[in-house]
Amino acid sequence: MVLMTGKEYVESLQRRKPLTIYLMGEKIDNPTTHPIIRASINSIALTYDLAHEPEHREIMTVKSSLTGDTINRFCHLHTSLEDLQNKVRMLRILGQRCGTCFQRCVGMDALNAVFLTTYEIDRSLGTDYNQRFTDYVRTAQEKDWVIDGCMTDPKGDRSKRPSEQRDPDVYVHITERRDDGVVIRGAKAHQTGAVNSHEHLIMPTLAMRNEDSDFTICCSVPADADGVTYYYGRQSCDLRRLDESAEGDIDCGNPMFGGQECLVIFEDVFVPYERVFMNGENEFCNRIVESFAAYHRQSYGGCKVGVGDVLIGAAASIAEYNGVLKASHIRDKITEMTHLNETLYSCGIACSAAGHETDAGNYLVDILLANVCKQNVTRFPYEIARLLQDIAGGLFVTCPSAKEMSNPDTRKVIEKYLVGADDIRTEDRIKMMRLIENLTLGRAAVGYLTESMHGAGSPQAQRIMINRLSNIEEKMKLAKDLARIRQQEDA
Ligand code: SF4
Ligand code: FE
Repeated sequence: MVLMTGKEYVESLQRRKPLTIYLMGEKIDNPTTHPIIRASINSIALTYDLAHEPEHREIMTVKSSLTGDTINRFCHLHTSLEDLQNKVRMLRILGQRCGTCFQRCVGMDALNAVFLTTYEIDRSLGTDYNQRFTDYVRTAQEKDWVIDGCMTDPKGDRSKRPSEQRDPDVYVHITERRDDGVVIRGAKAHQTGAVNSHEHLIMPTLAMRNEDSDFTICCSVPADADGVTYYYGRQSCDLRRLDESAEGDIDCGNPMFGGQECLVIFEDVFVPYERVFMNGENEFCNRIVESFAAYHRQSYGGCKVGVGDVLIGAAASIAEYNGVLKASHIRDKITEMTHLNETLYSCGIACSAAGHETDAGNYLVDILLANVCKQNVTRFPYEIARLLQDIAGGLFVTCPSAKEMSNPDTRKVIEKYLVGADDIRTEDRIKMMRLIENLTLGRAAVGYLTESMHGAGSPQAQRIMINRLSNIEEKMKLAKDLARIRQQEDA
């Protein structure tokens, strides 16, 4: 099945074997109908539905380099600089449409990173990982999978190597090597969209040394494999999703769409060798981590910009509802929000346009510029959100429940005192306030703010890469040459 619709995607999730999911003390039998989980599924479903919308087809779909078929871009190995830029454009559109994290990008980024790394391992060591992985990508494209790119291990005591941990399970590792495959144990934390995926593509989380070889494992595991358990992450205000009244929808702010993060446990999961793509090749851990991180840091120059567009729209709308849209300081703040947001987009496009073809044949972003992109993403969304809260006024955190609007007696009071500009319905003003709460404090804030900080690596991870790639020696030479300072050897 190539190019599923959103509905077909949901049906494909329902065909999986029952998953073991813990959410707020309960085991969830059917994730696709649970109100909290369903909102996150709706966000991914958009990645399927937009591929069928005529105005988005060109961005959302692409010709596969492996099969020649038209596939969803989320399963694609990038074959040009234009592909890299179209990826950023696609993520912006999706961020605009759902106002939160649509979860599917991690797998796309993992596919491209594992593809180029397995090629380089084979070239150096004579293994056949790339062919195996190419077969895997072909299947992913034909089945139009959502793949959870699994990189972040819980890590335990950060001062210790994986092999030095008191409990080795805080890193995914191989516990047994059999003739037909390996057995893995451990966990991956903060897994975006894990419950909504068809597959987990597991990668090592950091550079490994010889003593850590059992932790150097890249492999794929079906989401419904035996031994996989999900602990669903709570997000602020998530209980509002359980109130299925119309008023509950208003109080949700963004009732249709949500994100998802999980702690995923792998307890003695068997992986056949055709799904093993790295097995102890420690010297290539750096390459897979850096290339995956670079692709995902590029992604944030698209998705966060799309959500940023929603914040800017919310700022202008609430200013209109409050009767202050024409005030010059409001205009100026909205201009600043736009400037910051478009700067992030410029970074996403720039690291794509400055990318290059890898030896494996897919395209990789410029790693320095991708890290600069993400470093800006750790800052600018906070300022954009601050400006939105400034423009909104305090009502977005003090507003009475929407249920007060369904009782005629209390509604009269709310409408009298929470009225805004003439001709604006109080209910609409409340709806917009709730959306602002959601975007800057609630569930979507996890995807917009906290994920901007820590997703694809925390700020320090980018600073390490920026420092490593900044070529200070060359810049010192430029300065010294201009100052006509002779180098030691010339003197
Ligand atoms: Fe995609 Fe952005 Fe969510 Fe990462 S944070 S999965 S790039 S939408
Ligand atoms: Fe992310």
